[in-house]
Amino acid sequence: MTKPKITVIGSINMDLVTETNVVPVQGETVRGENFHTIPGGKGANQAVAAARLGADVTMIGRVGDDAFGEELLNNLRNEHIHVDHVERLNQTPTGLANIILSDQDNRIIIVAGANGEVTTEYIEQVKQSILDSDYVLLQFEIPKETITFCIDFCQEHNIPVIINPAPAMELDNASWEKATYITPNETEKEQLFGDTLSEHLITTKGKDGVTFVEDRAEKSVPSHAVEVVDTTGAGDTFNGALAVALAEGKSLTEAVTFANAAAALSVGKMGAQGGMPTREQVLQFLR
Ligand code: ATP
Repeated sequence: MTKPKITVIGSINMDLVTETNVVPVQGETVRGENFHTIPGGKGANQAVAAARLGADVTMIGRVGDDAFGEELLNNLRNEHIHVDHVERLNQTPTGLANIILSDQDNRIIIVAGANGEVTTEYIEQVKQSILDSDYVLLQFEIPKETITFCIDFCQEHNIPVIINPAPAMELDNASWEKATYITPNETEKEQLFGDTLSEHLITTKGKDGVTFVEDRAEKSVPSHAVEVVDTTGAGDTFNGALAVALAEGKSLTEAVTFANAAAALSVGKMGAQGGMPTREQVLQFLR
């Protein structure tokens, strides 16, 4: 079987995770317990998920000409993802998420950096590479104009596109309607679509599984009972897996079942990408 071709247009971040028992107040310095740098960004995470599941994945994005950019590019290369269209910018830092983890709460500052420079002009330069995709995956961590531009481009060229509307952001109705599928989590669904039932919508509900509409009937697939270590990236695993299964020609129910299993496996390990399963692991899990 030839590998399905998936193109992900989106964010690439380094997560800087500081673990501390005490969260500093204004003007205070405290001693933290631990620090990790973990590759992330919804775009990169979904690309890794799809690649581990056997797709031929191209990532389109930008990083800075800094140490994080280098490390993130190497991380994608190690997953056999094509990175010819991940451009390094020398005046802009790599996108990052500054995460303070404590028992009391988590505090996160996201800096878009080079992800904010994934402009329509950049997509114009690299758009030929999108043309032979079986599926395109988009998320909302790059500029809105770029997202609508990509949706229009995919529609013009009959390339199916999955929009993962995270973090939630409004698009005009015309753009939503051009999507093959839209994959909000429960909160994003509520915020962006209210009670609307649509054949395009696939809603992920964490441990409550997934709901979607097929042949005008609402269907749901329950989640798997698994030990949870870290749910970060469960949604990204779901999206990457969904794109792979749909690109292989699976029915919507089969594709959701596959993605639901891949996402369940992903929550068993630390980090967004850490727990993302291989195709063999998913097939074995579903046996
Ligand atoms: P995240 O932001 O943590 O990546 P999300 O909010 O985008 O996730 P969720 O709806 O929480 O998305 O999870 C996506 C999918 O992952 C679920 O539909 C389910 O298939 C799987 N999943 C998530 N949490 C669990 C869990 N506790 N047990 C089993 N499967 C889970």
